[in-house]
Amino acid sequence: MTKQLVCTQCGSIVKPKIMIKGSGIVEIFLWILFFVPGFIYSLWRHSSKYPACPKCKGESLIPIDTPIAQKFISTNEPETEIIKLQEDEKTNQTKKYNLYKNILKFIGVFFLLNTIIGIIKILIE
Ligand SMILES: [Zn+2]
Repeated sequence: MTKQLVCTQCGSIVKPKIMIKGSGIVEIFLWILFFVPGFIYSLWRHSSKYPACPKCKGESLIPIDTPIAQKFISTNEPETEIIKLQEDEKTNQTKKYNLYKNILKFIGVFFLLNTIIGIIKILIE
C-alpha cells in the first residue's frame, strides 16, 4: 500500500496524491489545435508528476515513520483524528481520482490512435 505521509504544511496524515503540473484543459486544446506543441506539453506534464498533500496541495510531505513526523503527530493530532482523516481521504479522493484517470486514459487512447492514423497517412503518401 502507499506509504502514509505527514503534511508539514497543514498537519494532515495523508496518502500522497500524485499531482501533475499544468492544466489538462490546456493540454487537450493544444492537442486539438496543434499536434506538436500538444505532444511536447504532454511530455512536460507527465514528467512533472510529484506527490502532494491532497488536502492543501502542499509538497512538504515527510514519511510517517520518521522521528520528526512522530513528534509532529504527537503535538498536533490525536490518534482517532488521524484514522478518521484517512477514512475520509479514501472515500472522497478515490472516486474523483479514478474519474480523472479514466478521462486521461480515454484521451491518451484517442491521441494514440490519431498518431497512428497520422503515421499511416504519411506512409501511404
Ligand atoms: Zn497538507
